[in-house]
Amino acid sequence: MAENNTEKTCEGCGAKCCRELNFDLEEPKTDEDFDSWKWILSHNNVYIYKDPKAGWCVCFETDCKFLDEKSKCMIYAKRHKLCEKYSHEECVKYTKLKYEPVLRTFEDIDNLRKSMQK
Ligand code: SF4
Ligand code: SF4
Repeated sequence: MAENNTEKTCEGCGAKCCRELNFDLEEPKTDEDFDSWKWILSHNNVYIYKDPKAGWCVCFETDCKFLDEKSKCMIYAKRHKLCEKYSHEECVKYTKLKYEPVLRTFEDIDNLRKSMQK
């Protein structure tokens, strides 16, 4: 959780950024690529989306084990560098980026593939 912005705070957020992992993905091109994306979506609490800035990404919706029951970081003073660098300028609460499309099912992937073939 970032606490270094004087105007924006983490108050009332519920630690959205500590409850998911996001990684870049290459745009799918081959049968194997699309099959891999279906494999990804075969797992619970995982979806694929296109970020207008970062491109294709996969999101794993899973809580950090260092969150306490009040959504506070239990290792805040020693938190990871990634957490330390994360700012409100890019955080999921304050950036209103529209992710389009969001893929959650095999059908979503098939539809994407059809739209890419047009
Ligand atoms: S998503 Fe933003 S407001 Fe919420 S805890 Fe993370 S940095 Fe703070
Ligand atoms: S280590 Fe702390 S700040 Fe980093 S994700 Fe976990 S709970 Fe959030």
